[in-house]
Amino acid sequence: MGKFNVDSNGFYGEFGGAYIPEILYDNVENLKKAYLEILDDSAFQKEYHDLLRDYVGRPSPLYLAKRLSEKYNCKIYLKREDLNHTGAHKINNTIGQILLARRMGKTRIIAETGAGQHGVATATVCALMNMQCIVYMGATDVERQKLNVQKMEMLGATVVPVTSGNMTLKDATNEAIRDWCCNPSDTYYIIGSTVGPHPYPDMVARLQAVISEETRKQLLEKEGKETPDYVIACVGGGSNAAGMTYHFLDDADVKIVLAEAAGLGVNSGESAATIHLGKVGIIHGSKTLIMQSEDGQIEEPYSISAGLDYPGIGPLHAHLARTGRSEVLAITDDEAIAAAFELTELEGIIPAIESAHALGVFGQKKFKAADVIVLCLSGRGDKDMETYVRIKEESKK
Ligand SMILES: *Cc1c(COP(=O)(O)O)cnc(C)c1O
Repeated sequence: MGKFNVDSNGFYGEFGGAYIPEILYDNVENLKKAYLEILDDSAFQKEYHDLLRDYVGRPSPLYLAKRLSEKYNCKIYLKREDLNHTGAHKINNTIGQILLARRMGKTRIIAETGAGQHGVATATVCALMNMQCIVYMGATDVERQKLNVQKMEMLGATVVPVTSGNMTLKDATNEAIRDWCCNPSDTYYIIGSTVGPHPYPDMVARLQAVISEETRKQLLEKEGKETPDYVIACVGGGSNAAGMTYHFLDDADVKIVLAEAAGLGVNSGESAATIHLGKVGIIHGSKTLIMQSEDGQIEEPYSISAGLDYPGIGPLHAHLARTGRSEVLAITDDEAIAAAFELTELEGIIPAIESAHALGVFGQKKFKAADVIVLCLSGRGDKDMETYVRIKEESKK
C-alpha cells in the first residue's frame, strides 16, 4: 500500500501515533511487535477466514438496490454487512482480535461500546472462545440500547454502566482504558473501531479490509471491473469506512464519500461532526481531529445514533479528509431518519441508524446516471426499532 498506509510509528501524515500512560507501554509495544506477524501467519489467516465464512456468514452479498438506484438515477450497490452474525460489521474485527488475544496468551477481555454492537460482537466471540468478558458502556447508551445490553448479558458478559461525562462512548472508552491500566498483564483490550493508540487503527482497518477485498471480486463478477466510481460509508470512529475503502485507497479513480453525524446541525452545538468541527489534539492514545473548545476541553458530542456519538475520529480518516482523498458530508438526525424510512420503503431493508447516515448522502449529493456506487450498509436496524417507532409516532401528532 502507498501513501495512505500507516508508517512504522503509527502515523498517517500528521495523525495517529501512540500517546499512552507509562503503565501500558509494554502492552502496546508487545502488540505492536506481534500484530503483523500474527495477522500474516497462515494458520491465523485460515482460522480467521474459516470463522468469517462459517460463523459470520461471509462473504456478505453485494446487492444491486434497483429501486433506490432508480430514485437517485445512478447504480447503487449495498455491501450487506447488516447480514453478518450479530447484525453489523463489528464482528469482522472481534473475531480477528480474539484470535490474536489467544495467541498472545491473554485470558481476560475488555471492550468499550456505544450502540452496543461492538459489545455484542465482543461478548459473542468471548462465548465462542470461552473467555471472560467485561464491557464498558455509557449509562445513556445502556438506556437507549436495552436489547443489546440484554444480549451481552445472555452471552455471559458483564456490562458496566459508566456514569461520567455525558455517559456515552467517549466515557466508556476512558473507563476501559482505566481497567486496562489496572490489569495490564492478563487483559486484552478489544477496541471496536479504527481509534486508539497504534497499532489499533491499522490492525482494525486490516481486519475490516475483508469488506473491500470481497467487493472487488463481486464487482468484477457483476460489472466486469473491480473498481466502482464511488464508495460511501458512515464514520463514527471509522472502522466500516476503513474496511469499505481499504483496497481502493490507491485507486485514484475511486472517489470516497463519508458521512459523519451532524446531529441537530453542524453549527447547532449539538452534533458529532468531528471532521467538520474538529481541531488537532490527542484522545484515547491518538493524535487526531477532536471536537474541543478553545482551551482544549473535549466537547460533548451529540447524535441520535449511539454508534456515531464520538468526539474524535480515527487518524486514517483525519488524514484522508485533510489530504482531500475523501469528501466528508455531515448528515443530520432528520436526514438519516428520512433515509432509513426510504430504504425500508424502497428495498425492504431496515438499516441501522448509523448506516442511514451513509444513505443520507443521496439527499445531499448528485451522481451521474453512469456512476457505479458501493455503499457500506454497516448494520441492521433491529436495535433502533424503538427510536424509529417513536419518531413515526411523533410525526403523526
Ligand atoms: C459501530 C457502528 C458504526 C460506527 O463505527 P465505525 O467504526 O465508524 O464503523 C457504524 N454502523 C454500525 C451499524 C455500527 O454498529
